[in-house]
Amino acid sequence: MNHGFELPSRCHEDFERLRTLEYLPKTHIDFLECIFQAHYQAKDRLVEEKIYTPPAYSRVQEMLSQGEPLISFDQMKIRIEPLRDHFMEVSSILKKYGHSASARMEALIRSEGADRLDLEELICKTLSPDPDYLLRVSQRSELEVNTLEFIALTLARPLFELAAAEVKDLLADYPWWKNYCPACGGTPFMAKIRAEDGMRLLRCSLCAVEWKFDRVKCPFCNSEEQKNLKFFYYHESSPYRLYVCDSCKRYIKCVDERKMNQAPATIDLAIEDIATLYFDLLAHERGYLPLSLLGGTAGGQQGEAFPTDFEKHDHWH
Ligand SMILES: [Zn+2]
Ligand SMILES: [Zn+2]
Repeated sequence: MNHGFELPSRCHEDFERLRTLEYLPKTHIDFLECIFQAHYQAKDRLVEEKIYTPPAYSRVQEMLSQGEPLISFDQMKIRIEPLRDHFMEVSSILKKYGHSASARMEALIRSEGADRLDLEELICKTLSPDPDYLLRVSQRSELEVNTLEFIALTLARPLFELAAAEVKDLLADYPWWKNYCPACGGTPFMAKIRAEDGMRLLRCSLCAVEWKFDRVKCPFCNSEEQKNLKFFYYHESSPYRLYVCDSCKRYIKCVDERKMNQAPATIDLAIEDIATLYFDLLAHERGYLPLSLLGGTAGGQQGEAFPTDFEKHDHWH
């Protein structure tokens, strides 16, 4: 049955636009489009499962007032079949694009022996996060920690997006202002300046919920030390900016909706994250780190003709 989570037609247009950006490697875009497709298909399969029931309204208010995010993975009721289906889909995409880990991983998932890889456990420990667990599994399975993280987060995202849809109304306009997601506690992976009021919103790397955050405050270390907050852009009219913090050496990319040539409702920060891959390279070059959860296009390769003549500015505004 179709519940409307198939790749939206807007998404096809977005990927066509990404293909026109000469600095993005074409195979990487094809790969990501397949991952997007699998994501929407997984949501479609999971939506009937009622994986999550939100707390009562009074409990929600209590949790939020204590700074406690509403959703956690262990509250979800998940059957292994749809999770495995999504995994198999992602694995076949990895295989198609030449990642050699797929066969090994599939064998471990199917295994009944001691080396069996439990997908639910993998997701839970990656989110907790438990680096020792990932390291142990990595050594035992001969799979890289990055690969295990990628799989865990790719499988977790549709679950968290569906759960977040259940609490979105409860969160609407709640004055949260923290540097983690009110819905699931996830870290921010992109920011935007909202067209209607110029507010800065952060988008969760896990459940895609967006919440308001100070414009002149680092969303990682909460520093408001203006001399340590800088930004880069390619040219002034560009809607994209790279914000960096010299207190914690983290960065976040931001899209100014007011400068985009499209209606705000059609802007998808996950797509703009891919469009601005050059900022990740610039940040990396300058020694700034992305967030710890698999933010955006980790693993992307450098294409040709990346813009390099950035203008640097002191102080965020
Ligand atoms: Zn979230
Ligand atoms: Zn910082």
